Parts: sequence; C-alpha cells; structure tokens
Amino acid sequence: MGQVKDSLGRPIRDLRISVTDRCNFRCKYCMPAEIFGPRYSFLPKRQILTFEEITRLAKIFSFLGTLKLRITGGEPLLRRDLPLLVKMLCELGEYEDIALTTNGYLLSKYAKELFDSGLKRITVSLDSLKETTFKYMNGGVSSVQDVAKGIEAAIGAGLCVKINVVVQKGVNEDQIIPIAEYGNNLGINTRFIEFMDVGNHNKWIEEKVFSARNILKVLKSKFSLEAIGSNYRGEVAQRYRVNGSSWEIGLISSITKPFCQDCSRARVSADGHVFTCLFGTNGFDIRSHMRKGLDDDDLMGLISKIWAQRKDKYSEDRALLRDNLEKVEMHHIGG
Ligand code: SAM
Ligand code: SF4
Ligand code: SF4
Repeated sequence: MGQVKDSLGRPIRDLRISVTDRCNFRCKYCMPAEIFGPRYSFLPKRQILTFEEITRLAKIFSFLGTLKLRITGGEPLLRRDLPLLVKMLCELGEYEDIALTTNGYLLSKYAKELFDSGLKRITVSLDSLKETTFKYMNGGVSSVQDVAKGIEAAIGAGLCVKINVVVQKGVNEDQIIPIAEYGNNLGINTRFIEFMDVGNHNKWIEEKVFSARNILKVLKSKFSLEAIGSNYRGEVAQRYRVNGSSWEIGLISSITKPFCQDCSRARVSADGHVFTCLFGTNGFDIRSHMRKGLDDDDLMGLISKIWAQRKDKYSEDRALLRDNLEKVEMHHIGG
C-alpha cells in the first residue's frame, strides 16, 4: 500500500506501542499516587494485545511507511516475557530502529536478555540524582541507585542508552547540570523534556513548565554547546553537541515550541487502540477488528483511513482545547 499521509501531509514514521498499562512507579507528572492508588484497576489480561497481535500490527504499520518502533507502557519491563516480544519484533526485519523506554527499575535484571533478543537501544527515564527529589517525583518506590544500576547494566550488556529527564520548575531544575554531567561521564545522550499536560490528573499549569529555552541557558552555563541539524523532518528533539565531542543533549519543547506540523507519530495502547495524538481521548479500537478476523489488507486499509483523516495539532491549539478535553492517560498510551 505504501506511505500514507494525514490531512496535513504528515506521514507515519514512528510507532509507539504500549505493551502494558501497569507501572511500578507513581510519577507525580504521570500517575499521581492519590489517583492511581492500590484500588485502581488496570486492564484485564484478555484486553491486552498478545505478542502475536503486537507483532502483526508492527508489520502492518511498517507496510505503511513506519521506520521507527518504540516499545513503551506503563512500564514495559513489567510485561511478562518481554524479551520474547523484542525478539519477535526484531525478527520482522522491517524497522530501521527499535528501542524501548523504561523507568529503569528492573533494567539490571533484563538488560542482557533484551540485548540478546536483538534490542540495540534503550531510553531510561531519570529525573533526579538527588534521592529526595527522585523519590518525590517518581512516587518513592525506587531509588536513584536502582536506576543507575540499570543504566550501568544496559551499557555493560552492549545497549546504546539514552536518558530522558522531565523538568519541572521549582522541583528539579537544579538537577539539569548533575544529570547532564552524569550522562556526559558515561557518554550517553541526555534529553530534557518540558513538563506536559498529559492525562487529566497531573495538576499541570503553565507556571510549572521550565522551558527548553531556560534548560538550554542552564546547560550553557556549564557546557560549550553547538546546535546540530535534525536527522530527519519530524525529529522532535532540538539537538546540541558539546564542542569537540560526540556527546549530545536534546531538548523537547512540546509546550513552548510545539512541533505538531511535523508530527509523524502513531501510538497503539496496550489494549489495541490507535491514537493519532498523545492528547487524544479514546483512540480507534483496532483490536476488535483484529479479533473479528480482518485480514492484513483490510487492517492496513483501516489504519490508512484513520491516519488519512488525522487533523491533530493539540499542542499548537492547547490554549483553546485544554479545558474541554478528556485526555487519555500517559501510562495507558505510552510517552
Ligand atoms: N514507564 C516508562 C518510563 O517512564 O520511561 C515508559 C512510559 S513513560 C509514559 C514514557 C516517557 O514519558 C517517560 O520518559 C516519562 O518521563 C515521560 N512523561 C510522562 N509523563 C510526562 C509529562 N507529564 N510530561 C513530560 N513527559 C512525561
Ligand atoms: Fe513514571 Fe513511566 Fe510509570 Fe508514568 S509510566 S508513572 S512516567 S514510570
Ligand atoms: Fe503530535 Fe499531538 Fe504532540 Fe502535536 S500534540 S506533536 S499532533 S502528539
């Protein structure tokens, strides 16, 4: 069928598949513990896509032009036998890049198995090296040491590691330099992300956003940085390199400098709903069509139709849309 474009001319380049809606963390900016407490009910197993269904969808998306695949969640390492799924996705041979995003808590246990299954790249979320701030932001379950151990295990196993940092004003901006130095010392690229109004419960207000511009200012007080051009149209991070080295930092300015015009990212939730925007509401239930017995061509046709009708540009229209929209939760759809 070939490449499909949406109503603004954007192709699908990048697919994020969530493999579980469960998480062992309770990050305040994603799953605040007071809402997602012990009685919160996650999806029952029968509603979650099987490995075969995930692999089939990944293959269908690749036929529509998708080149990059991200495995996400919830916390993907909580999905039983995840290395087997990684192997199935790698064996498709359809993606130029497959990566996994994790909070790192279980990474020291699984890093080698993931590498042996064919995974090459992993992104680890780490918002602070200061234990009190880490525990405050991430819900108090894990520790900096757990995540650092995971990062070291991943490097040791041969995985290419990247760090994701969500920066919140008044909470962890003092961690920008320490985390950048940590990444620089280990030679791993580090991305700083503006705090976003995802879901309905993270008490987002614009005043809590520490802008990419300010993050850059902080970084420039320590490092001599040069801007690098983007690798491809639609790359979300503004990238910088420390002069004379190959170490990179990236800034993701979803709030202060939205990049909807180039957004080529499709998402599939753990229960098989296709979302054309991170700030969607219900998504499109592709799972029921799969389970009804539609063949690959029909599924491809359906996904093309969904994408062709896409008009999303939430971040550009945030001020108009924000208060009137019930948004999907981030742990449900993946980052
Ligand atoms: N549990 C895994 C993790 O935390 O890496 C994968 C899923 S998580 C939803 C994916 C990414 O979304 C993480 O890097 C996380 O920091 C980011 N994220 C979650 N909530 C966010 C928010 N409100 N603003 C910006 N980034 C957010
Ligand atoms: Fe935190 Fe990721 Fe879990 Fe959300 S899904 S609570 S960002 S660890
Ligand atoms: Fe893409 Fe939606 Fe984010 Fe805009 S708001 S960049 S359309 S996911």
